[in-house]
Amino acid sequence: MADCIFCKIVAREIPGEIVYEDDETLAFKDINPQAPVHILVITKKHLASLAEVGEADKGLLGHINLVISRLAREKGISEKGYRVVVNTGAEGGQTVPHLHFHLLGGRSFKWPPG
Ligand code: AMP
Ligand code: ZN
Repeated sequence: MADCIFCKIVAREIPGEIVYEDDETLAFKDINPQAPVHILVITKKHLASLAEVGEADKGLLGHINLVISRLAREKGISEKGYRVVVNTGAEGGQTVPHLHFHLLGGRSFKWPPG
């Protein structure tokens, strides 16, 4: 999608510190990390947010969660624990309108979130 920064990272039009890629997903380091491990895992398909997904995206959403689980193991944060965040819409704190999963780890997180 034109003018979407995450689509541009997928297309290699702007740089990203890519840590994983397959046919359906891309994972890269967050430019403003909030934890020692902060990776964004995105669908290559442009979906604006979790509010936009449908039945047709069921397989993709299952796949992306497996990718996240595997990345967490590879990054050494699986045993101690980690947090996966999908900010959705204005009140959810979403700033980039392309579906992305934050994988955060390497420190303790509080609950409830701010
Ligand atoms: P959200 O607020 O949930 O929409 O998250 C957007 C995230 O994208 C933020 O954590 C930003 O730091 C991150 N971000 C924005 N632009 C880039 C970029 N060019 N490369 C990597 N991360 C980015
Ligand atoms: Zn996009």
